[in-house]
Amino acid sequence: MSTFKAPKGTYDLIPPYSAKYLAVRDAISGPLRLSGYGYVETPGFEDVDLFARGVGESTDIVTKEMYTLTTKGGANLALRPEGTASVLRAALEANLHKAGGLPVKLWYSGSYYRYERPQKGRYRHFSQVGAEAIGAEDPALDAELIILADQAYRTLGLRNFRILLNSLGDKECRPVYREALQAFLRGLDLDEETVRRAEINPLRVLDDKRPEVQKQLVGAPMLRDYLCDACKAYHEEVRALITAAGVAFEDDEKLVRGLDYYTRTTFEFVHDGLGSQSAVGGGGRYDGLSEMIGGPALPSVGWALGVDRTVLALEAEGVELDIPAATSVFAVALGEAKPVLFGLVTELRKAGVAADISYGGKGLKGAMKDANRSGARFAIVAGDRDLAEGVVQLKDMESGEQSAVALAEVVEVLRTKLA
Ligand code: AMP
Repeated sequence: MSTFKAPKGTYDLIPPYSAKYLAVRDAISGPLRLSGYGYVETPGFEDVDLFARGVGESTDIVTKEMYTLTTKGGANLALRPEGTASVLRAALEANLHKAGGLPVKLWYSGSYYRYERPQKGRYRHFSQVGAEAIGAEDPALDAELIILADQAYRTLGLRNFRILLNSLGDKECRPVYREALQAFLRGLDLDEETVRRAEINPLRVLDDKRPEVQKQLVGAPMLRDYLCDACKAYHEEVRALITAAGVAFEDDEKLVRGLDYYTRTTFEFVHDGLGSQSAVGGGGRYDGLSEMIGGPALPSVGWALGVDRTVLALEAEGVELDIPAATSVFAVALGEAKPVLFGLVTELRKAGVAADISYGGKGLKGAMKDANRSGARFAIVAGDRDLAEGVVQLKDMESGEQSAVALAEVVEVLRTKLA
């Protein structure tokens, strides 16, 4: 062991466990790639103001959880705590919104950083796959994203998750509600920090999990009763489209989420087997974000699904992903057979067969151990005498059966057997 360890709140992905993460990323991005979303990749850090303005000055993410740094050149940067602001920034910078039809549909996958108190399911470095549909106001787009996330989770085999849905209103109706809620909150007995939060971001107080706060919130004005007709109609259409797709959801009028940029549709995917860190993903509409970061009006909607927590959810449900063995064929060379088998392994790999060979000059016993450990379905064993006869021994690692196969035919024989 080295004297160094992974920093607090982080962990390494190690084979074979790491294969699950790749499978989860593939399962989440698969439906997006079939739905017109193009891949986007942005830097791991951005100008700190992008997040301050985009995510919101009053949010925990910006005030407490950002990793910030000043470069030698004097630039103030932050490791990205989330994906949406960066992706929108990149789309605006590349003028994607002017290039052709809207919406611009993008997906991404990467690492995110938040200085949080680490616990199971909550890390300082975590991984998300996300999707953004930029520049169109259309309930079908909100519905599409929710349906695609549902499809991703179901493809993976998850069942015990729920979709929570709410509307946060728009710039017409939310301010009216905000004032009504503030007036109500001012009459409560709250601690200093919560009083401050009520002034800056009163909707977040509804999200307060403490029972003494929840008790006082009974009878608070609810946004549902303040939604303007346009927001109400929009929300009804989103609900109808998701319902028609056979995707179940729950209306959750207290769902506000931790980022300031959301308008209208907001949703969260929660898994019931995860304890306190139950959100496996979330998202919503952010019609004002583009203008907040200096762009034109571009109503947009998106989500981000947490890869770490999705893996935990799979474990909680006991779902075993169908991950094929990394190696299908393993070569064991005896005597002077190594160069020939090495060449054969190269041929197999070119033919698309996952193949490996024993390294380090091991004898038969050690090399066969390697073959077993690799999980390969077949082993190719050959010594000088086999090669002199123009054959290799093909061993079925499941049945233990072994037979000689002509060297010139091995690739084809194995391709057929493995197909
Ligand atoms: P958010 O941007 O906070 O809505 O996060 C979207 C998703 O990312 C969440 O539902 C989680 O699955 C995941 N996530 C957010 N923060 C963390 C974290 N600190 N550790 C692990 N996963 C996280």
